[in-house]
Amino acid sequence: MIHRGWEERPDSEADVVILVTCSIREKAEQKVASEIGRYDAVWKRTGSPSVALIGCMAQRIGADMAKKFRCVKLVSGPRHLGLVPQGIEDALNDGRARFFMDEDPMALEDLNVVPTERLSPVKAYITITYGCDRFCSYCIVPYVRGRLQSRRHEDILDEARALALGGVLEITLLGQNVDAYGKDRRDGYGFAALLRDVSSVPGIRRLRFATSHPRDFDKDILDVMASSPSICRAINLPVQSGSDRILREMNRGYSAEEYLSLAASIRSILPGVSLTTDLIVGFPGETEEDFRDSVALLREVKFDIVHTAAYSPREGTRAALMPNQLDARTKAGRLNEVNRIQSAIARELNEAYVGREIEILVDGYAPKGEGLLQGRTATDKVVIINGAPEDIGRLMNVRITRAGNWSLEGERVGTGA
Ligand code: SAM
Ligand code: SF4
Repeated sequence: MIHRGWEERPDSEADVVILVTCSIREKAEQKVASEIGRYDAVWKRTGSPSVALIGCMAQRIGADMAKKFRCVKLVSGPRHLGLVPQGIEDALNDGRARFFMDEDPMALEDLNVVPTERLSPVKAYITITYGCDRFCSYCIVPYVRGRLQSRRHEDILDEARALALGGVLEITLLGQNVDAYGKDRRDGYGFAALLRDVSSVPGIRRLRFATSHPRDFDKDILDVMASSPSICRAINLPVQSGSDRILREMNRGYSAEEYLSLAASIRSILPGVSLTTDLIVGFPGETEEDFRDSVALLREVKFDIVHTAAYSPREGTRAALMPNQLDARTKAGRLNEVNRIQSAIARELNEAYVGREIEILVDGYAPKGEGLLQGRTATDKVVIINGAPEDIGRLMNVRITRAGNWSLEGERVGTGA
């Protein structure tokens, strides 16, 4: 929108509020619905702000939301983002709501021209795949984001080269399952080839990617990572459960043993790699024993970060219809327990950084602390440092002086190459 002359303003002064939504958990949807209700009350009194509802919640229930709340003037599913800026302007001009949903087919080629405004001059995200074909039994993504569609690698590489020319140092490749990249295109060009080619773009100093599915994470990817120093040693590899029975019910396609063996080979090929994961607790029928299997796997692998979630039933998914749905108290209790155990593990791994000299890319001001800056290591650890505004956007060598559960503290020892 900014490239069309719009500017960001506080809510109280805005003509339009754009709500980018996610359907993965029910709570997030409820929060958005109550936000819209709040804007609608103001809109009824003052005629402003209008609301644009975007993303998978919009795809799922946006039409109902627009019926209920008259402030909703645009609804767009995740595959129609290219139409949003013009749509908002049209809707504000004539007062009629616009709807861009999957029923209005839009080729992936159009997604390649989605206007992108990047907030950081040195870090950028490139979406490489849309949707997912895996149909895990709990997950709404394939229904609201559609089947896997990979962008053409030529377009991704053009985007990466243009970013590098503009001064971007770090690129993150994004997708629900980035390692499934290319499996829908049949030209034999897969994720390993894409990683190799993007990492060779001159000027790109750091290449990241998220998220990877254990079934799609193959040896070719590891070999490319091992031979390209600019690919960050940081992998998010969601395990979801440590119980084979639950993994089968989830339709994940691997056993706990297979996951452990993949984690071990990643660590042997990429020493020092940071491994993070996603874990769901309270999946339907998860017994205390199944839960203990998940805890045991966390203790064995020792992930740097675990993104934990209490299972949330999503309409239309197979798991939502399963018997033995667990009560909220059991789910909350298990969530608290894994979070407590993981905090101690993360602390222990972070302590091992103390005294080390390491390169960070300085992102900006630390959220807490006057004048303090924050950067990230290649392994994606947050490091808080004392620094000057002109350090933002620079690579810098620091010595780690202190470790916390979620971040490190450091002091400058020189400027990175
Ligand atoms: N594709 C990745 C994978 O292989 O797992 C993850 C992408 S998924 C959209 C992001 C995370 O949301 C998942 O890892 C899972 O932990 C969580 N999630 C998805 N559906 C969920 C549900 N119904 N309840 C709770 N968490 C859920
Ligand atoms: Fe959802 Fe990930 Fe499973 Fe795809 S692989 S269905 S995105 S959890």
